[in-house]
Amino acid sequence: MTIQVLADEVASQIAAGEVIERPASVVKELIENAIDAGAQKIVVHIESAGKKLIEIIDDGCGIPADELETAVKRHATSKLRTADDLFHIRTLGFRGEALAAAGSVSRMTITTRTADSETGHRIVVDGGFVTSNKPVGAPFGTTIMIEDLFYNVPARLKFLKSDTTERNQIETLISRYALAYPDIRWQLINETKTVLQTTGNGNYREILAAIYGLDIAKQFIEVELDEEGLTIFGFISPVGLTRSNRKEMNYFVNGRWVQEQALNASVQRAYQTLIMVGRFPIIALFISVDPEDVDVNVHPAKAEVRFRNPDRIIGGVHRAVRRGLVTQSPVPELNTPTAWPSYKQETPPPFDPNGQGIPSSLPLWRSNLENDPGTVTTAAPVSAPEENTDNSVPARPAAAVYQPFMPQPGAHDTNKAQAPAFQPVTNTPSPTPPAPAPFFPILRWIGQIGSTYILAEGPDGLYLIDQHAAHERILYEKMLDAEANGTVTSQALLEPAVVQLPPWQASALEENMPILSRLGFEIEEFGPNAFRVIAMPTIFEKGAPAAAIAAVVEDIENDNVPMQGLTSEKVASYVCKRMAVKAGQTLTADEQRALIQDLEKCRSPRTCPHGRPTMIHLSIDLLEKQFGRKGAF
Ligand code: ADP
Ligand code: MG
Repeated sequence: MTIQVLADEVASQIAAGEVIERPASVVKELIENAIDAGAQKIVVHIESAGKKLIEIIDDGCGIPADELETAVKRHATSKLRTADDLFHIRTLGFRGEALAAAGSVSRMTITTRTADSETGHRIVVDGGFVTSNKPVGAPFGTTIMIEDLFYNVPARLKFLKSDTTERNQIETLISRYALAYPDIRWQLINETKTVLQTTGNGNYREILAAIYGLDIAKQFIEVELDEEGLTIFGFISPVGLTRSNRKEMNYFVNGRWVQEQALNASVQRAYQTLIMVGRFPIIALFISVDPEDVDVNVHPAKAEVRFRNPDRIIGGVHRAVRRGLVTQSPVPELNTPTAWPSYKQETPPPFDPNGQGIPSSLPLWRSNLENDPGTVTTAAPVSAPEENTDNSVPARPAAAVYQPFMPQPGAHDTNKAQAPAFQPVTNTPSPTPPAPAPFFPILRWIGQIGSTYILAEGPDGLYLIDQHAAHERILYEKMLDAEANGTVTSQALLEPAVVQLPPWQASALEENMPILSRLGFEIEEFGPNAFRVIAMPTIFEKGAPAAAIAAVVEDIENDNVPMQGLTSEKVASYVCKRMAVKAGQTLTADEQRALIQDLEKCRSPRTCPHGRPTMIHLSIDLLEKQFGRKGAF
């Protein structure tokens, strides 16, 4: 190809790619413009997750009619004149590219009126071309409509995720900005429904309540730090209130939301040993520094900044968070997981040589979730035992003592004595011989160890069953079988459980309600972003429904499947993970026997739905070797 200067619209579309990646990035640019325009009220209205329509209505200063056509051009801005201005910048925008970018990849209509003009003015930009520009009646402020985003860049459309994911991002974004700008009245409308609304009265707790519900809002710890040239203010979650991802760790530098690994790391250090590994706090920190000490022009979406003195900021954030935690966190609530809860509650049941008298139905599991008061997102205590199970299967301990279990019945392979220990009994093919068809031995129950593993004797030695993984598998198959056979049954809760969720999780739940209902959950809306669990699948005889639903929603949110919704299998696996008996729960003899029996009935009894082994095997052969009865002197 010969070298040519690109046509303007092509250059614009390419440039737009940097700024506008998805609906949420358009929303971000436009609300930042509204904030820069001094708006007191910002309404964001989306349809089809912003793919069809994004409408932002503000009551800011408006754009003068004679500047409108300039405003939609590239590199057109009222916010700076020289590159030097960048280091005194107090506005969120400064590159003058958002309107041009949005206009080049959509049909954009801007209606605007300044305080001193008699009428409003409207400009229409279609795929980068101005198609109309004329006076209209309009209220003060600016309304920008972005229709059919990426209609002329189909390649971009293909990269968009499912509506849930795209919408989640917008909901998360508005929640973030609502908190950062508490003096602005925010309203987010999804289709026709208001999913977030704030009063603009400057009260942070009220906004936290609008996002998280009152129960959780009350728990946040306020932090403050005032040092020479650096002030930090904000809210952090107490140690009992955590998430499974970093999505809600938010930092604003001079009012600008930034993603900053170093700040995350600094906060995580402050929480270290106080919360479980793999859990993350909810953070909203507003950091103010002299604009001269921060370079805001280092990232295409302005989502990163460079500090002149990063250690200072990072250190300050750490001090602020740590101080907040130490001085305000009630120490007894610290959530250090106890791997082995009390053995006292129950003496091991007497040895039953026949293994008879097994009740046919599953007795009531004493779920850890029950103790949760329903403030669902206090997820750390809920999931702590779950995390234990994750680590509790010693897949390959260093000392290679035990013989692996070969999944053929009665295979006494004496040549494998050096093989790794505690071979998990799984259906997944191992690097050694491919596993034959599922085989599950008839097991005789012996007892429980560590309130976590059930001990059983099989035809060829000893079996250790991970009670959580096993129960997960049992529930999973029961749940999906019932769905497939049309035999799902539900049981009404004596008292409906109320779940209050942040907007982005509420929409994730809403989206998956049909699946949950097919699986036996009866859930109804109960106010903005609140739901009521009325009935649960009968297979979960006990358990805290609200906590389970909230935890499931977190899983759904993390799933992030591109372009497609979740399947029953996926949702069932999430649900069963939360409803299954936990490691560390003492089970009665009957419960343990029932669990073994139910596991025998499973089609894939050897792994939990996530692929972890449900059991490991110590063969007679191995025991004989270890006791020096065979193959040794
Ligand atoms: P930037 O924000 O970097 O200046 P934009 O392309 O986002 O660039 O906007 C171009 C200009 O249009 C802004 O500098 C501002 O003067 C004007 N503008 C955009 N949105 C609004 C709004 N909602 N209210 C008032 N003026 C606006
Ligand atoms: Mg802008």
